[in-house]
Amino acid sequence: MNYINSPIEQISFNNQKYFVKRDDLLNKDFSGNKARKFYYFLKNDFPEVKKVISFGSAQSNAMYSLSVLCKIKGWKFDYYVDHIASYLKENPVGNYKFAKEFGMNIIEAEVPKSFKEDELFISEGGAVKEASFGIEILANEIKTWAEENQIKNLKVFLPSGTGTTSLYLQKFLPFEVLTCSCVGDDEYLEKQFLELEKSNFPIILKKEKKYHFGKLYKELYEIHNELLKQTNIEFDLLYDSLGWICLDKYTKNLRNRDFEILYIHQGGLLGNISMKERYSFKFDKKEENRLC
Ligand SMILES: *Cc1c(COP(=O)(O)O)cnc(C)c1O
Repeated sequence: MNYINSPIEQISFNNQKYFVKRDDLLNKDFSGNKARKFYYFLKNDFPEVKKVISFGSAQSNAMYSLSVLCKIKGWKFDYYVDHIASYLKENPVGNYKFAKEFGMNIIEAEVPKSFKEDELFISEGGAVKEASFGIEILANEIKTWAEENQIKNLKVFLPSGTGTTSLYLQKFLPFEVLTCSCVGDDEYLEKQFLELEKSNFPIILKKEKKYHFGKLYKELYEIHNELLKQTNIEFDLLYDSLGWICLDKYTKNLRNRDFEILYIHQGGLLGNISMKERYSFKFDKKEENRLC
């Protein structure tokens, strides 16, 4: 099975040229930046481990990818959440549905404070030092591609959650890495960087307004649909929509651009299923009603 070496494509969006690293195409079940972050656990042997323990939201991409990892490795998987919405329990969808099918044991309770010797604890969203292993491979793929295509001036953009991926990319790349915060504010993201490294942080592009993670915003839905229309690539609604709003603005404000931009598509498309339902219900219906 191949879990590395994703293709890079050239696209045009709002009359600007970009390259896109298609990490969404790494593998059918194990893709995106979670596949990169958990590659260390996939590739190495852990004879003592029988179970993985993690926590986070009941719709998280990391949760789903961990369920796939555990299935491949023959490990049990306990995943702790604060709360599972009743509509989700009744109508399982997206990451939640598929993680359960892969054998996840989801528990509504506090994460245990201590672990047994055969238990491997992975913190929320895969914000762990071990993530650097797979992200270094991603960085090397980018370096090789840039060399082969004689691209000397490159900036790499990717939206951040915990910031683990953008931080380690900056660590291993000779190019500038740009990002934006999607889960917390910019101060939160800087704190997250500091948890893992002391310096050499990606540049955080500023947002025009505050966005609450997981909430619906018309412009996020619009740019998602516009990207799909112009590039034929489906991007994720939680991170990429906001990422593209920031990047589009950044690119438009450049007088003359003397570098190429590589956008990292970090997967997350299973999470889109429920997001699209919510967006469509909120915004598409209204359009129809207005016509009536
Ligand atoms: C997890 C995730 C992110 C955020 O990655 P971090 O390493 O936590 O910053 C971004 N995009 C997608 C699609 C993700 O699944």
